[in-house]
Amino acid sequence: MKKLIQGIVDFRKNLTEENRTLFAKLALGQKPDALFIACSDSRVVPNLFASTNPGDLFVLRNIGNLVPPASADSREACAQAAIEFSIFSLNISDIIICGHSECCAMQMLAQGVDTQAFPHLATWLKYGDESVKKIRSGFVLNPALSEHNQISQVNVLQQMEHIISYPFVRDRVEKKKLRVHGWWFDIAQAEVYCYEQNFNQFVLIDEKEAKIILDRVV
Ligand SMILES: [Zn+2]
Repeated sequence: MKKLIQGIVDFRKNLTEENRTLFAKLALGQKPDALFIACSDSRVVPNLFASTNPGDLFVLRNIGNLVPPASADSREACAQAAIEFSIFSLNISDIIICGHSECCAMQMLAQGVDTQAFPHLATWLKYGDESVKKIRSGFVLNPALSEHNQISQVNVLQQMEHIISYPFVRDRVEKKKLRVHGWWFDIAQAEVYCYEQNFNQFVLIDEKEAKIILDRVV
């Protein structure tokens, strides 16, 4: 908490004229072009590893970067609300679902969640159950990874399936007005990977892969 409070004091003190102008402009409205769905994990900081500024990304973070499918209980509507808002109000063109290595949610899923100690978490994590089942029934993406990291990568694909289950998402994807990307952040290496369907692999986003992604989206 001390670091957090001191950080606010430092932010005020060090705010550049350029950033002051940026915030004044952003107060008039936001026009992010992407919805970024990531885990709440404190080590996953999209604005840092994607070098983005305020106003660039509309971010949804939750435990396990999960998206309930369209058939889910409507009382659990937090994620769905963010998806609807970003599409209908912000007219975003890209959705990125970003998992990460050493994800505590994936480790819990792999070990089985203690429903007595974590009743709400257990309910929420059911949207990742299918990812565990896939890995344990032989689905292979990167066998060099530990089991929970393999689950985490497959979970990105699973949540991409969930988001496509919403008719308004599927319709826009089919009309090429919206793209859904699967990314994965490796904490130890501080590297971001993109799922490439052609190779059925997460590929490091270096300059070469960045060009391939940009050629697809522009
Ligand atoms: Zn996580």
